[in-house]
Order: sequence, then structure tokens, then C-alpha cells
Amino acid sequence: LKILGPHQNAEMYRTLKNVFGHNEFRLRQKAAIVAILEGFDAFILMPTGAGKSLCYQLPAILSPGITVVISPLISLIMDQVTKLESLKINARALKSGGDYNAILTELESSNEVEIKLLYVTPEMVSKSGRFLSCMKSLHERDLLARIVIDEAHCISQWGHDFRPDYARLNVFIENFKNPKVPVIACTATATPTIVTDVRSHLGVTNSKLFMSSFVRDNLKYDVVQKSAYSLTRLIKALKEKYNESSGIVYCLSQKDTETVADSFRKEGFSCKAYHAGLNDKERSAVQNDWMEGNVSIICATIAFGMGIDKPDVRFVVHHSLPNSIEGYYQETGRAGRDGRPSYCVLLYSYQDHIRHRSLKEANGKFCHAELGKQHKKSIYEMVEYCENVTKCRRKILVEHFGEIYDASACQSSITPCSICENIVELKKKYQLYDITADARIIINGIRAINNPLISYVAELYRGVLTKKNQEKANKANHINLPFFGLGNSLNEADAVRLLRKLVIDGYLDESIVAGSHGNHYGVISPSQKGILFANQDDTAGKALFGSN
Ligand code: ADP
Ligand code: ZN
Repeated sequence: LKILGPHQNAEMYRTLKNVFGHNEFRLRQKAAIVAILEGFDAFILMPTGAGKSLCYQLPAILSPGITVVISPLISLIMDQVTKLESLKINARALKSGGDYNAILTELESSNEVEIKLLYVTPEMVSKSGRFLSCMKSLHERDLLARIVIDEAHCISQWGHDFRPDYARLNVFIENFKNPKVPVIACTATATPTIVTDVRSHLGVTNSKLFMSSFVRDNLKYDVVQKSAYSLTRLIKALKEKYNESSGIVYCLSQKDTETVADSFRKEGFSCKAYHAGLNDKERSAVQNDWMEGNVSIICATIAFGMGIDKPDVRFVVHHSLPNSIEGYYQETGRAGRDGRPSYCVLLYSYQDHIRHRSLKEANGKFCHAELGKQHKKSIYEMVEYCENVTKCRRKILVEHFGEIYDASACQSSITPCSICENIVELKKKYQLYDITADARIIINGIRAINNPLISYVAELYRGVLTKKNQEKANKANHINLPFFGLGNSLNEADAVRLLRKLVIDGYLDESIVAGSHGNHYGVISPSQKGILFANQDDTAGKALFGSN
């Protein structure tokens, strides 16, 4: 390790100004750059747009040798390289065909390398033997300055964007141990668990973490109950407020992107669908039309967005439930890059999480049980975010990434979340009260019911049944269950929310059952935790539930 002296500090600022054209470092950039120049491994966790690239590009220019940057997509790489070339920085993209051979020959032969930054995809790293031997030769000649891994969260199986080629990067890095080449991991989306996982996977458990705040003050977070009319109503409101502005609408399936795009067009928006069913040419045409503002809205699956840097996106709509908070935060993060107020709204239906789970669980995608559990946990965190009625949305999102956030900041921000905006009324409307006793009786009681649905149990709990369920309950003698009618003071929505809360908190398990028409539904049963809780006589495990 070397420690920077005052003249290097001056050089840093000179490069910042003369090469990159910026006057000041942003928060944490300088600290990260100094640590990287001093030779430390680093983990750069900053939201999109914060300026992660500078953290490794500036050190790359000031260090002898070459910095290798592993980045997920060729299109992202080309954008970066074009930008760097316009700043007169010697950066190259290594891709098959083109000047692949010329670049590698240059790196293998000369004693000094002129190229400062070399961008490669993880596929190239894992497939090209020639690339590996070239890197080894640079390393032997002490010309490999450092290895940067962009979008490093893709390494972790716990993340929402796991990629097998990323997981193999540890094998690549193993080659550069003696002397050790510093490793820089960058990402805009990682929970503390994922940070730990990525660090240990790459063998850089002590890498220095540089984190800037995830708070996006100009984004308004809202959740709207999905119903037959909610989409039309939302589109009308967007039309009124944002007219021709740019927006993204995330949908769960290809088919949804088409039908939702139709709905937007019907209301007079210029709108196109974007999904994996289009070929490359069609996809980039749609993307360009949108980037240039010829089309105002894109209805897309989550395949859309990585590396998209459009400053004036005024709204991001989620037409169905995202499957993790990390994913949701990254997708909404594409709104309002220019700092102007922008709107992030999620159309929520509890049923959507069943769609997610049935898609994932049906095709047995998980190679081990822990991953399946993690996936389920991520979905329920998202459900919890939507079911929540009194907690600041910004707080939930930001704290998911390990930051501490005081909701009073949201209340006084330019765009408070939909909860903080109405906090006075909400606090009046919802009161916390203890349902420990009821929960116990419900958990014990539902064991007598065969494959109960939440809606059915909620009806029994309130003692108010639809005609069809009344017949069923009479016949099966469910009207004599101890919890029948216990919740008669609650309205239907609250009774349902209470049962969902028991699922979210793990007292009840919900399993996915296939219906006869290709549909899926969830049936509940007491979990291990629920049974333990239900059989306790004391008050341990006491929980509070919100209700009105
Ligand atoms: P990230 O990779 O974190 O998403 P980028 O590195 O692409 O973000 O940077 C986002 C934008 O911020 C770029 O346009 C970049 O030029 C600009 N930027 C980065 N650092 C600074 C700085 N210190 N001063 C001004 N602009 C900066
Ligand atoms: Zn808030």
C-alpha cells in the first residue's frame, strides 16, 4: 500500500477538473478514490447516478498499468467507452470480432500499456482462455492495476439479479493473488446481507465500504389498490399531471406489457411495449424512440432499464407487485434523475404475489431450499411494504439498504411519500391494538379447516359470511370454531389485513395451490412458529396489529 502525499491530492483535483470537467467531488467519491489509489480493495455502494464510475476511472488514469472493468452488457460498455473517448481517455471495449486480437496483442507485447481502462463482459472473462492468459501476463509484468466489478450484486444468489457468469468471477480473481491485485466492487443495489456475501465470495472480506445515501428526495412513493378501474383512473391522472412527459410502466409478463400499452394509447398517450419477445432491432428501436422523446411511455418487463440514463423520467408505474424491495428501488430509481419531483406508484393486489410465487415455485427453479426461502422472503417484504398503512414508505425502502432514516425528513421533503403526506388522518384512522389472544385462537382454529383461503377465514372471524360460504360453514360446522365471530367489530378489509399480517410475520404459512383453470391461489396453515406461539400460555411473542 502507498499513502498519498499532498502533490497527489492536487493531482486528483487537477484530473477531476481537466479530464472529467467537474469542480468538486461528490459525497464519498473522494474518500473512495483515495482508498483505491492507496491500493485498498473497495466496495462502492451508491445509488444510480451518484457517480460510481468516477471512483474507479479517476484512479485508473492516475495509476500505472491497466484497470480491467467487468460490466454486464455490451451496450453499457459501449456507452461508457464512448463517454471516456470523448474525454480523451484511452478506454477500450473487448468484444468478440472487432479489434479483439489487436487489443490483446498490444497488451501482451508492450512493456508499457497505453490503454488505461479495458471493459469486458463476465461471459468473456469466463469463456476466453486468451483473455485470461493476457491478464496473467499483464499481472506478471506488474501492469494490472486493479479489477473493477460493476453491478457486483449479480454475484450473489441472494440478490434479485443473480448471474452465473458473475458467480464464476471469484475463480478469475484467484489468479491475481501474488502480488494481490485490488478488487473494486460497485453496485447500486445491495442489502447488508448481499454486501457480505459478495465480499466473501470474492475473497475481499475487508474491502473498504463506501456508501452514499440512498434517499431520493424528489421521488414520491405511492401504493394504490389494484381494482378493475385503478389503471384507467391512474392513466387519467398521469395524463392530467404529466401529459407528454416520459414514463416507464413495469409489467409482469410480455402479454401484460401489450395490454397495458393499449390502455395508455386509448387515453391518448404515445406508448410502446418492450419485452423479450421483440428482436434486438425492434427493442433498440423502441428504446431509442423513448430516449429521444418520440414515444412518451414504455410498458416493459423488468428486462428494460439497466444502464438507461434518461434524466427526465417523470413517473415509474409498477403494474404488478415487484418481487423484491431491491428490484423495486432500482426500478423506481430511474425516475427523476434530473432532481425534479417525480412519481413512483405501485398498483397493488395481494393476489399478485401468488402469481410470482407460482411462476417461480412451479418450475422448481431453486437448486437449494435456502434460495427458495429467500425468494419467498423477498416477496413478502414487498407485500409488507404494500400492506403497511402508517409507516413512511421512504423509510422502509432506505432502511432496507442498511441506512437509518428519520421519517420526519420525509414529511418535510418536497415530495413526501403518500403515507407521510396524509399522516395526520392515517394516525387517526388506524390504531394499534393487541390481537395476541385472537391470533392464538385463529391459529389453533384453522387447523380444523381443509385448505382454508384467507378470505374464508376472515369471514369466519368476523362471523359475516357470503351465502355460498355460509352453506359451507354450516355443513362443515365451522360456525362452531372458537374464533367464529371474534372479530365482529372489524370491517372486512381489516380482518383480511390481519390474516395477511400473520402470514407476513410467519405465524401462518401460505402455500400455492393450482386451481382447475390454470389459476393459482394461496391456502393458509399454522407454521412452526405459529404453533409454538399459539400454544404459549404466557405473553411471549405478543404482537401488535394495526387496524381501524
Ligand atoms: P453511477 O455509475 O453511480 O450510476 P455515473 O458514474 O454514471 O453514476 O455518474 C452519473 C453522472 O454524474 C454522470 O453524468 C457523471 O458525469 C456525473 N458526475 C459524477 N461525478 C461527478 C462530480 N464529482 N461532479 C459532477 N458530476 C459528476
Ligand atoms: Zn414518508
